[in-house]
Amino acid sequence: MRGYITLPIIIVLTAIGYLFYTTLFVLIDGWLGLWTAAGLANAAVFTALAAVVVTTYGIAVLKDPGGVPASFSPDIEDSENTVHEIKRKGGDLRYCQKCSQYKPPRTHHCRICKRCVLRMDHHCVWINNCVGHENYKIFFVFVFYGVIACIHSMVLLVGSVSFALHNDQDNNAGSFNVSYIICGAVLLPLTIALSVLLGWHIYLILQNKTTIEYHDGVRAMCLAEKVGNVYRHPYDLGIYENLVSVLGPNIFCWFCPMTKIVGSGLRFRTAYDIPLSTFPT
Ligand SMILES: [Zn+2]
Ligand SMILES: [Zn+2]
Repeated sequence: MRGYITLPIIIVLTAIGYLFYTTLFVLIDGWLGLWTAAGLANAAVFTALAAVVVTTYGIAVLKDPGGVPASFSPDIEDSENTVHEIKRKGGDLRYCQKCSQYKPPRTHHCRICKRCVLRMDHHCVWINNCVGHENYKIFFVFVFYGVIACIHSMVLLVGSVSFALHNDQDNNAGSFNVSYIICGAVLLPLTIALSVLLGWHIYLILQNKTTIEYHDGVRAMCLAEKVGNVYRHPYDLGIYENLVSVLGPNIFCWFCPMTKIVGSGLRFRTAYDIPLSTFPT
């Protein structure tokens, strides 16, 4: 299924193409003039943003989110690890009945991809692919630059509309450029949706959680409360460590599209692995 061109992918690419054309040839050209210094500077920045958005989107669509290698066997000696897993149906070792294979921690079976995906976040119809260990960062970077491009386009739209209103005062209201309305109708919901998605994933990354773990965590928290315990997400290593483990060790590359993914996706450090100096003995 991965890599196939589906309707949602066509919609995304059409929206990117439409917004690119409109931003350059309607908004920038109508307000600043495309061949002025300000117009060219804005066009260059927006073109660079659009290029990054299309590239990261393409990689998120095509990249394998990460599957369980056939050679994988659970670390039975390190059985304490399974204690930290959020268990369903009380199984000790995580086993996928459909794939007939043991699952590493944080791996989940995707019903749409019909396979187990390492550190599965969610299956995204907009990329016709799972978001997992191998493509989570590129997906995040895509959303990040998508939001920046949308905000840039939004600023240009507001500028263009106020410029047009100022200059068209002697004309009738009917002369108002319809393309601004269509552009706003596409851009505003897209900006809101992408910003909410970005905020949500920043919130998850700061806690080193996946979308699935967030929902499981809510359930685990309720269960823990009932018996008077406190549930703690096992992979939460503190804000900085969480950012490093998802976005990479180099802070200047956190938003670079091309960086190596941290770890194999088969094992993850947990809060219990860190030697804590203040830990009661
Ligand atoms: Zn499976
Ligand atoms: Zn999937």
